[in-house]
Order: sequence, then structure tokens, then C-alpha cells
Amino acid sequence: TYVVTSTCIDVKDGICQKVCPVECIYEGGRMMYIQPDECINCGICVSVCPVQAIYEDADVPAAEQAFIAANVEFFGAG
Ligand code: SF4
Repeated sequence: TYVVTSTCIDVKDGICQKVCPVECIYEGGRMMYIQPDECINCGICVSVCPVQAIYEDADVPAAEQAFIAANVEFFGAG
């Protein structure tokens, strides 16, 4: 799946939501979150993000690893 990271915070541009073919990107609090069960791993959101916030989970930089768990928690808690 794909994960939104820190540069999205307080930006929430929203273009990712418009291009996602399965509408699996949700706004929550200060950033966007990607629903892992719905994401089809197409990668389109990565290229349109104006702040380069989105990574495939395996490629999330070391400093951004906490966002993998935060993403799981966001949907797990819902
Ligand atoms: Fe949506 Fe594709 Fe991005 Fe997954 S990788 S969130 S399906 S645009």
C-alpha cells in the first residue's frame, strides 16, 4: 500500500483525492490517509502530490517510518 507522510501536515492539497481511481484517500485531522485495503497500488497519487508526501510503504524514508503505523491506526480506530 501507499502511505502519506509528514509534508502533508497542514497542507492537504487534495489533488491526490481527485486522481485516485478508487477514492481511497481520506482527510483526517491535519493530513490525508490512504485506506490500505482499498489502495490498488497504482502510484498515481505519488506523482501529483505537490509536497512529495506519498511513498509506497516499503520505500518510506527512515525519518518518516512513524507514519506507517499512524496510517494503520487511523483506519484501525475507525
Ligand atoms: Fe489511490 Fe493509487 Fe495512490 Fe493507492 S496508489 S492511494 S489507489 S492513487
